[in-house]
Amino acid sequence: MLVVGYGISGKSCFVFLRHKGMNVFAYDDTNGNIPNRVTELPGNVDLVVKSPSIPIMEHNRHPVIKQAYDKHIPVLSTFDIFRIYNPNAKIIAVTGTNGKSTTTALICHILQKSGISAEMGGNIGVSYFDMPKADWYVLEMSSYELASSQYLDFEMACILNIEPDHLGFHENFENYVAAKHRALDNAKLRFISHEDTATLDKYASQNNVITISNENIPSADIYVRKNAILNNLTERIAIDLSGFTNLPGKHNHQNIEFAYAICKQFGLPSREIINHIRSFMPLPHRLNITRHIKNVTFVNDSKATNPGSSARALATFAGRNIFWLVGGRSKKVDPMIYIKDYIAEVQKVYLFGESMDEFDAIFKGIKTTVRCETMEKALQMAYRDAKQAQQGGVVLLSPMCASFDQFKSFEQRGDEFVRMVRELE
Ligand code: ADP
Repeated sequence: MLVVGYGISGKSCFVFLRHKGMNVFAYDDTNGNIPNRVTELPGNVDLVVKSPSIPIMEHNRHPVIKQAYDKHIPVLSTFDIFRIYNPNAKIIAVTGTNGKSTTTALICHILQKSGISAEMGGNIGVSYFDMPKADWYVLEMSSYELASSQYLDFEMACILNIEPDHLGFHENFENYVAAKHRALDNAKLRFISHEDTATLDKYASQNNVITISNENIPSADIYVRKNAILNNLTERIAIDLSGFTNLPGKHNHQNIEFAYAICKQFGLPSREIINHIRSFMPLPHRLNITRHIKNVTFVNDSKATNPGSSARALATFAGRNIFWLVGGRSKKVDPMIYIKDYIAEVQKVYLFGESMDEFDAIFKGIKTTVRCETMEKALQMAYRDAKQAQQGGVVLLSPMCASFDQFKSFEQRGDEFVRMVRELE
């Protein structure tokens, strides 16, 4: 057996398979300290297991995967290995372009607090093989994993939303959507968004589909009216969304609705679910208020790695003076489609990272940009301007980009931001 990619998932799968007594090799493009390391596909391998981000599509297939395909050696995902060894696991799959981690963690929190045996894992950063044993597994499924897996089989699956992202891996938007839809095609009960028209058109008329709207759409099974969730399904109860200060913004209301709809399937009283949503600790790097210094608020939204997620950040702070830090490795998606309704809220855009020229050109004639090269400089410049502004402002790190040009991960970028803010005081 060969495990390709020796990151969190690959390493943990490798260790798991070894414990099962398999003869496992490992391949990684980097020269780390890797046991049983090989530099190409060994001749005696009968199965290849790929880590989620290893590309498999024809346009950019990884050379080792290509060798395996050429030799007709089966290629499975790390999820497939988990599934094969846990055939009776009951899985709730959470996918979508944005909100996956928050919704996964929220569902798991509600279930655990309600006394249901549940654990979470997958793309949220906990490998399938490191999850404690449980009756239910709430898995954050990336489009990579959905596109590459052959043993998908879920009790429930949801797609929160679909917007262009990860097109380098999938080649085009159609393939990306098709990957997400594989979650629904392999689930007994499906939860979809009324606002995601491609998914709605395909699935709304099918059985075992629950539709969820973030707007006042009474034809949806669950929808929002005047800041309250209405449930057409099991009971006509209105849930006041303004009580969930830990999950601010309309986008989080969508996450709450999905988590609520899924947890209702366990027969839990709405009141109990509401209490558990209230006690949920928001995940770091997602619109976290880092600090207030005088009349300036600093917000760490480092996990906003595409324009869709940053649009939600701008919407959340609408009405405040926003001093916006943008940059990193661009997703090459036109941000204006997403942010046009909110860009008026922004005072200035502070650019850093390898995408500086690209965004400078995009914002030309629309907003004043400040070219800063580094996030540290961007933060200092934004703070200088924000504290001079009447009524202060919000210094918002919501970069619309991946972090890999200047940081190891979005977590490291967010941690650095928090540290630098602390040093401003
Ligand atoms: P994911 O795991 O899909 O990346 P996260 O919960 O980690 O999602 O959130 C990533 C970013 O997307 C954050 O900036 C967050 O504020 C924003 N976000 C969270 N939920 C949603 C949603 N339902 N729709 C759009 N953006 C969202």
